[in-house]
Amino acid sequence: MNTYLYGYQDKLYINLTNLCSNNCDFCVRNTADGVGGHNLWLENEPSAEEIIAELRGMNLDKYAEFVFCGFGEPLYAFEKLIEIGRFLKGKGKKTRLNTNGQASLIIGREVLDRIEKKADKNPGSVKTRNENHTKDGVCTLQKNPENYAESGSAKDSEEKGICNPYENHTKDGVCNLRKNPETGGCRSYENPERKDICKRVVGILRGAVDTVGISLNASNAERYNEICRCAFGGEGFYAMLEFAKECAGKVKRVILSVVDTIGEDEIEKCKRLAGEVGAELRIRKYSAV
Ligand code: SF4
Repeated sequence: MNTYLYGYQDKLYINLTNLCSNNCDFCVRNTADGVGGHNLWLENEPSAEEIIAELRGMNLDKYAEFVFCGFGEPLYAFEKLIEIGRFLKGKGKKTRLNTNGQASLIIGREVLDRIEKKADKNPGSVKTRNENHTKDGVCTLQKNPENYAESGSAKDSEEKGICNPYENHTKDGVCNLRKNPETGGCRSYENPERKDICKRVVGILRGAVDTVGISLNASNAERYNEICRCAFGGEGFYAMLEFAKECAGKVKRVILSVVDTIGEDEIEKCKRLAGEVGAELRIRKYSAV
């Protein structure tokens, strides 16, 4: 039997998919089949209509918050998430997305085009056009060499303190600049292509969720990949940071989180990173179930 909705404490959780781009050491999926007695492995993914029909039949006032979080990464079901989130916001409910933050690697442009097209047909819904791009999707920022070291050598990028992901990164997406303390670290999360997708995702998301909780997990890409074994390699970490940065100030509340088992030194570094990004840091207790 599929469990799409399940109550836990005063919240209602929405389980849309079992797909995930990570395979985290601490993931509850490694040790249990669900949470609170609910089996969260799905035989079929639900449609947004099915979930909304179920919600219509429930007493929504029983719950303090509605959380997109299940046995997988909700961004893999972004279109459904947005429809359901907008339905709940229309009912005046508080909503939250718990995510690994790899939005720009998971959500395809065609998905964003579809959602934005619907919004254009319905003037009451949220507008999401990115002001830095032409109608054809060409980034005007990229044309200005002061914004991005798109061409130029790795040395140029390094001197400017700007990361050029194509030249400064290993094949796995691990940044060499980060290893050089003089450059002040990698800013590859300013990759223009990913940034454009993040902007569009956040523009849509803000009409559907109040809080975004993002698993930070580690203070650098190497450590992140040891813990999370991301299918996108080192790019996953930078995409996550970039998404968090884009959410900060645009979504009502942005919380980065780490588990308490990563060590004090790592927790301190993560606190600094969350501050840089403009988000809160939450240290959550490790739990096998
Ligand atoms: S991001 Fe990690 S913890 Fe979350 S569902 Fe995926 S593997 Fe599990």
